Amino acid sequence: MNRSRRVKILATLGPASSNEDMIRKLSRAGADVFRINMSHASHEILRELVRAIRNVEKEFGFPIGILADLQGPKHRLGTFEGGEIDVAPGQAFVLDSDPSPGNKERVCLPHPEILEAIEVGHRILVNDGKVQMKVTDTGNGWVKTEITGGTWMADRKGVNLPDSELMSGALTDKDRKDLEAVLKEEVDWVALSFIQRPKDLIEARELCQGKVGILAKIEKPQAVQRLDEIIELADAIMVARGDLGVEMPLEMVPSIQKKMIRKCRNAGTPVVVATQMLESMISAPVPTRAEVSDVANAVYEGADAIMLSAESAAGDYPLEAVSTMNSIAEAIEKDKGYLTTIESQRPSPDATAADAISFAATEIAHTLDLAALVCFTASGSTGLRAARTRPTKPIIALSPVPETARRLALLWGTQCIITPDATDLDNMVDTACEVAFREGFAKSGDGIIISAGVPLRTPGSTNMLRIAVIDEHGKGSVHKSTG
Ligand code: PEP
Repeated sequence: MNRSRRVKILATLGPASSNEDMIRKLSRAGADVFRINMSHASHEILRELVRAIRNVEKEFGFPIGILADLQGPKHRLGTFEGGEIDVAPGQAFVLDSDPSPGNKERVCLPHPEILEAIEVGHRILVNDGKVQMKVTDTGNGWVKTEITGGTWMADRKGVNLPDSELMSGALTDKDRKDLEAVLKEEVDWVALSFIQRPKDLIEARELCQGKVGILAKIEKPQAVQRLDEIIELADAIMVARGDLGVEMPLEMVPSIQKKMIRKCRNAGTPVVVATQMLESMISAPVPTRAEVSDVANAVYEGADAIMLSAESAAGDYPLEAVSTMNSIAEAIEKDKGYLTTIESQRPSPDATAADAISFAATEIAHTLDLAALVCFTASGSTGLRAARTRPTKPIIALSPVPETARRLALLWGTQCIITPDATDLDNMVDTACEVAFREGFAKSGDGIIISAGVPLRTPGSTNMLRIAVIDEHGKGSVHKSTG
């Protein structure tokens, strides 16, 4: 499918969107990658969703990405005698390891590692930060706090600890079981929640064995502090603004988003902007003006993908949310200022053959006004480096490896197509021209530029550039310089 939009759309599936027909409609409306939230999906639901998405993929004939989002160490309160309590700022409140139901003075925090890590002065936030506490004293299996804001708490509300570094890793026992199930399915990306430090990615990487890309969700201040190292280790990054906005002052989130996108673009690591992008569309068929601006900003900043959460998973208007996001992105990308802004932020090439080739391809495509950049990519690395340059012309990534094509569905400006392995250079040029013509990226007389690594299927070997012109039959001929 020739989508002209460069930024990709990631849509979360849930009760509002889990049947095959809705997945088909969401895909047609613009969803490029589907997210399955393992906080809510059982292994059976995971299997059914993957099957439904792959059916739609087969029917449409273009690769669709699937991201499984692991819950991570999401902490919750225990229960209360009456299910809820009222509290008042200034009062004392204790969190302890006693599993009996809580009352106005105390409640269980069933995570011994947290009670150990919390120090006097640390903040504890409950229910997305609606109740705030400050720790005044600690002991063996308990912490005493003062309520500093908020008036109400209830059973199993979420707990955030912005100041405490927990020694536990990012994978819980549930995550390990979920990951095992995910790796048995045709899933392309796994998202790790609440990572704090680079080493949190290492265990997941060992377990995944390269079968899926690893996306690090940045939602803790500790992760923001070590962003450069995390970007280096992760295959993709998510600006997870929901928990980030609880753990850090809300007013800091926009500048952190900008910084993250800039750093990811410099590194050539795909970056997703997530959460509350069209929040009001959970219950309304049109977004607010502010939400439209929020989506537009992420597009102008050059994010690889923008994400819908509850809007597509549990809202009343999942289809409208995807088509609204699609229309906003298309409109912004038509703005003359858009490509100029994106181009002006192009990072310099690294001193590698792969980068020199990718940058040369981008420059040549622009100078000669070619119709598209076509790259052959088995591992995905040529595609990633091409997208890093954010060219003004479309990128067509051709891969004989379906898993690579699906993974690259997350990538800015990249249309992925599964093709058989090219047999030699001539065959490569022919295939590139035929696909560019067939998919509507180029017409007869248009030129394209082709990059690849020879020998084929050698990861990181990008070393070849060819300009070709599409003939009247949609075939290729090598470009002859007129200069
Ligand atoms: C977020 O916190 O912004 C996020 C994407 O994570 P989750 O939806 O799992 O809370």
